[in-house]
This record gives sequence, structure tokens and C-alpha cells, in this order.
Amino acid sequence: MKRAEKADRILRILDDLYPEPPIPLDHADAFSLLVAVLLSAQCTDERVNMVTPGLFALAPDAERMAGLPEEKILEQIRSCGLAPGKARNIKALSRILVSEHGGEVPRSFEALEALPGVGHKTASVVMSQAFGVPAFPVDTHIHRLAARWGLSSGKNVERTEADLKALFPRETWNHLHLAIIFFGREYCPARGHDLSSCAICSWAATKKRIREEAQDGGGGPRSRGSASGRKKAASKKATR
Ligand code: SF4
Repeated sequence: MKRAEKADRILRILDDLYPEPPIPLDHADAFSLLVAVLLSAQCTDERVNMVTPGLFALAPDAERMAGLPEEKILEQIRSCGLAPGKARNIKALSRILVSEHGGEVPRSFEALEALPGVGHKTASVVMSQAFGVPAFPVDTHIHRLAARWGLSSGKNVERTEADLKALFPRETWNHLHLAIIFFGREYCPARGHDLSSCAICSWAATKKRIREEAQDGGGGPRSRGSASGRKKAASKKATR
């Protein structure tokens, strides 16, 4: 099957499973989303959603965040990984937003990526989820699934992003990246499980990938609570 055909079929399956995937990080505006995405590096979305209410109660916008001592920010976010660096970056980027962007989050990849602690993935999430600009933020999970599904043989997230953007229509990018994230969380353990019972890998995985998974100890479920998920995925497949 050609990559484009695979992409089309995968899109239909994901649309069916996740017609309107929600944004996982709680936020009120572009600024709170930017800070939440920055906090989510090396940290679960659940944990970020636990710490952001306290932080934004103290400083709901860039101006007030810029005026907050770094130690105060750190106090609020301490339970997230890499907290000291994140506190430093949140303070520094808030100052820049105030001094260079009138206290607003800029609506451009270039300006976002110039902020401390903000890389291309974070900028893509903000452009996509705060401003509705088509973007395809690729994290390690999407990178891994794109490889498993044979949609990309990219060795890095940049290449995978380019491959996925070429395969899927631009107007699908914003909800599709979320749908892939939700599918991965619900169904996909990192390694070692039975691909033949899956709604997608059963027909989309490359032979090379199936071989590698088998060598990795696949063939037997080793789930992260995804046994029921696999059943659901399998029954979806049966109805198709
Ligand atoms: S076989 Fe596993 S990795 Fe592949 S899509 Fe299905 S659940 Fe995810």
C-alpha cells in the first residue's frame, strides 16, 4: 500500500475514534498555553494541569509573571521535571513578551522560537492550539507512531514532521496531531505487543517494523493498561 493510501485510511480511523480531540493542557489564553506547554517537557499533562492553577492565580498574564520573583515561580512548579530551568525561562520569556510584544504572545513561529525555552514543537503547539494556524507538532510519541505506521522513515522529529505534512491535508493537521497523541496514549505501549490485533498496525506496519517489534519481545501483550484499548481497536477494525 502506498504511503498516501495509508495516510488516508489512518486519517479516517482516527477521525472516527477522535472526531473532536480536546486540548490536553488546561489554559485560558495563548499566554497560559505557552507556559503550560513549556512546563510539559519531561512532565505529564496531568501534572502540568495540577500546578498551573496555582501559578496563574499569582500571575495570569505576562506582565504579572515578569514581576514575580523566580523563586515564587519555582515554588509553584517544583513538582514538574526540570523545574529550576523552567522557572528561569518562564520569567525571562514573560519579560520579553512585555518589552518586545506589548505583553502578548506573538503569532509567528520565528518570534515564538526566539523566546527562551521555546523550541519548534512548543511554537507549533501554540500556533496550532492557541491561534488555529495549521501546524504539526511532532513529539517523540508521534515520531514513533509515524515510523510504526510506515508514514515516515525520518531519523528525527524534523524529518517526520515534513513527511507527515506532505502526506496529510493542511486543514487536518491541527486535529490530527491531537488524535494521534490520544490514540498513542490509549492503545500503544512503547514496545513489545501484538500488532496483529490493532486497528492500524495490523495492516499499516511495515514488515521491518513487525520484525523489530517481534525481536523486541512483541507478540505478547505488555500493556500500559491498554488491553481493553486493543480490544476496542480490534473491534473497530472488525466493523470496518
Ligand atoms: S499495534 Fe501497537 S503501536 Fe501499532 S498502532 Fe496499534 S497499538 Fe499502536
